[in-house]
Amino acid sequence: MAIHFSEVLSKMKGSDLGPLLALTAQPDIISFAGGLPAPRTFPLKELTEVAVKVREEDGAGAMQYGPSLGFMGLRQAIADRMNRMYCPMGMDKVDPKNIMITTGSQQGLDITGRVFIDKDDVVLIESPSYLGAIGAFALEQPKFVEVPTDDQGMIPEELDKILATTDKVKFIYVIPNYQNPTGICWSLERRQKFMEVVTKYEIPVFEDNPYGDLRFEGEEIAPLVSMDPKHLVIYSGTFSKTLAPGMRLAWLVCNDEILAKMDLVKGSTDLSTPCVTQREVAMYMENYDFEGHIKENCKLYAHRRDVMCDAIKKYFPSDVKSTYPHGGLFLWVELPEGCDARDLFKYAIERKVAYVPGDSFFPASGKRNYFRLNFSYNDDDVIEDGVKRLADALKAYLAD
Ligand code: PMP
Repeated sequence: MAIHFSEVLSKMKGSDLGPLLALTAQPDIISFAGGLPAPRTFPLKELTEVAVKVREEDGAGAMQYGPSLGFMGLRQAIADRMNRMYCPMGMDKVDPKNIMITTGSQQGLDITGRVFIDKDDVVLIESPSYLGAIGAFALEQPKFVEVPTDDQGMIPEELDKILATTDKVKFIYVIPNYQNPTGICWSLERRQKFMEVVTKYEIPVFEDNPYGDLRFEGEEIAPLVSMDPKHLVIYSGTFSKTLAPGMRLAWLVCNDEILAKMDLVKGSTDLSTPCVTQREVAMYMENYDFEGHIKENCKLYAHRRDVMCDAIKKYFPSDVKSTYPHGGLFLWVELPEGCDARDLFKYAIERKVAYVPGDSFFPASGKRNYFRLNFSYNDDDVIEDGVKRLADALKAYLAD
């Protein structure tokens, strides 16, 4: 019997990244592939305490179905935190009514794709961009257009040119803070110019901000949502990188009109995000030192970033370039022109080390001479050992 799957899934079977990343799960491989936070950062004692208290204080409420937009106590705590952080930067106060809790920010991406995209619509993204967002949007079969990006972020003049000449642009997806995969943080000037262009064309923007709290050095730079006179920005935050990804808790902030559409899709998708974890995190935010916890995470990750960058400097061939991110979880490696990070991957796996080849982050151009490294997950000695193995792989590959 022939089983007939949907057209979109038949097209998606071309991706071979899955089997390649499956290799990285072997226990003897040093993997720099995943975007995993360090397990030691999870506040297990505190999360256990709130898990017990929530059940003791309002167990029935926590175990009942809840509103599709989420538990008001958590929406309020998120609004308060955003208002504390971003109102001094000029943002209009966030009303908790404009917040929707999602099951990870990945769900926010999925819902946004369904709300905006019809087949063959255009989605603009940074070049390169987060492959998980590309995968979520791809289910709606858009065309991705990569907007040129440099070490300051997306180039507004290039964006303007594209918007002036491209029809059917539904929204622009960007990660201005410590981007996945490059680790780049957009400068304030770039953000302001970007918002001028976006405001001129009145195009919605998805501002994905999972890494803004993981800032190791420098001043906080205002988010796009704080410079948005026409309320075009859909802001996305998550607890995955600050608390624990296993909680699967994140949020969207957007205007009433967009939120109503998001809510329609959310209700049809999973009715609501689990009520229990929402109450736990609301209670955690109210009773524990969340900001202090984030600061501790940043210290650890800044250190691991330095261990990785020092090892790269020491061991990598000099014609291989890499970024020095001031936050987030990733850095981005550029191989000399003509090299192929997928070919290099075979040399790396032979030496029991893994990364994510860069072409999946470029859905239109498919550039092949880049790869992404994660520095948050492994201990210092493992990072050093893995970078040494990668340097061996690079030398062998470049010599062949
Ligand atoms: N957006 C970006 C840019 C990410 O890097 C990730 C996780 N790697 C996500 C969204 C999804 O995160 P979560 O669903 O855990 O909130």
